[in-house]
Amino acid sequence: MKTYDSEDIIIYWKPNNCKHAAECVKGLPSVFNTQKRPWVSPQNATDEKIMEVIDLCPSRALTYEQK
Ligand code: SF4
Repeated sequence: MKTYDSEDIIIYWKPNNCKHAAECVKGLPSVFNTQKRPWVSPQNATDEKIMEVIDLCPSRALTYEQK
């Protein structure tokens, strides 16, 4: 599992659960960009928007926890 820190949330990503449905990449390309390393850049959007898009992840590969 990988973690990405933002101001108010911690983002968790479980690569083995990722079904590459791309809801995250389509929903918020400024934050979720598979061409970049790290591929998650939480500083590029508000935590509210990030949580909204993470909630669309069909496999729960992406989750978050509020600090
Ligand atoms: S929405 Fe979830 S399953 Fe789809 S690519 Fe993103 S992390 Fe993977």
